[in-house]
Amino acid sequence: MKRKLFIFGIGLVAVAAMAAVYTAGLFNGRSGQGTALVKEAEAAGGKVTDPKGTAPERYVYYPGTEPLRKDEIRLIAAGTGMPTARRSQAATCFLVELGDGQKFLFDIGSGSHANLQALMIPSNFLTKIFLTHLHTDHWGDLVSLWAGGWTAGRTVPLEVWGPSGAREDMGTKYAVEKLLQAYNWDYMTRAVTINPVPGSINVHEFDYKGINKVIYQADGVTIRTWPAIHTGDGPVSFSLEWNGFKVVIGGDTAPNKWFTKYAKDADLAIHEAWLTSKTMVNKYGQPPQLAARINLTFHTSAQAFGKIMSIIKPRHAVSYHFFNDEDTRYEVYDGIRETYDGPLSMADDMMVWNITKDKITERMAVSPDDAWDVPGPGKPLPPDRTRKSEYTQFILDGRFDTSDVDALWLKKFMKKHGLTEEDLKTGQ
Ligand SMILES: [Zn+2]
Ligand SMILES: [Zn+2]
Repeated sequence: MKRKLFIFGIGLVAVAAMAAVYTAGLFNGRSGQGTALVKEAEAAGGKVTDPKGTAPERYVYYPGTEPLRKDEIRLIAAGTGMPTARRSQAATCFLVELGDGQKFLFDIGSGSHANLQALMIPSNFLTKIFLTHLHTDHWGDLVSLWAGGWTAGRTVPLEVWGPSGAREDMGTKYAVEKLLQAYNWDYMTRAVTINPVPGSINVHEFDYKGINKVIYQADGVTIRTWPAIHTGDGPVSFSLEWNGFKVVIGGDTAPNKWFTKYAKDADLAIHEAWLTSKTMVNKYGQPPQLAARINLTFHTSAQAFGKIMSIIKPRHAVSYHFFNDEDTRYEVYDGIRETYDGPLSMADDMMVWNITKDKITERMAVSPDDAWDVPGPGKPLPPDRTRKSEYTQFILDGRFDTSDVDALWLKKFMKKHGLTEEDLKTGQ
């Protein structure tokens, strides 16, 4: 039966996703079978009796179509995988959307930006990023959001919160500074063609040793951190409190005393659960010594995940950071179930949780592969006209004249948009 419930829970197909919501609804929630739920988030199953009718309740999430209730949280996994890239799972990224419109990203691992884009949220609303640590699978796509959001019309800089390190060169401030230096050509060449302001990143580095310390407090949101234990000093876990809710994001960590203490009473608790050492040897090709050490020293085994959740007793537990495949998820699930029997999601990319006081539902997002940027509010700032493109005459002399054919569309286009010759010169 457990396995059957789990099969529903993974939600890889529509029927399974439908069952997952239904199942979560049955066994989830301290307050029992709530009624004041977001209708759209309810299980499917409502009858359609009119041939022109639409299904009254949905078991999947279509990005951009559901307003949140003002006392509701939507949390979306935009990445749940591993450092090694795969098309089906990006690396760690969780988006928290609050009912009042505020949005927070926790980690933005390699590959996750494409999933974020598929949520069709204007870049101007994705500016606050909290990093648990500086492994590529947790911040590798920061640079993609930085440049991609900038070209998509974001009008403000990114704001990044991240931990310090044991030394200055192991902290977030150093990492972002050096990242921008590495991408200097990217910055300089964009800053001359579009406004340079959104091309900067403001870093808010905080002490990784803070114990349940507030590192962000504004507009009713409190974000705290405590240390994680993962491959060296620096990594942290986060909690976000808002409107009586508490969401906890563990990041990468071995089991630790801080998480078991400060993650208590979470509505949704996200924590890693590593693949078994056996699989890491057989499928990942790791030496057995390393495969065992990983689960014991700097990540968390499935059984340890279950033990932690049995202690903190969240309304809903979320395991992630494993390749969620037919031949690997069950061993993780079974390991967790040896030590934890509460509500559980085995996270996969584009899994969506709606959190209300009454209920927590799990669904899968149905989103476009061909997503475009969704324009946000306000107009992009104009280019800085004092900047000039840095072409040498050698390169400029290489231009091939196509003005005769470009004239076929240009005159009409300029007239329609009221452009002048001066507009065409800027940035070259
Ligand atoms: Zn890591
Ligand atoms: Zn990781």
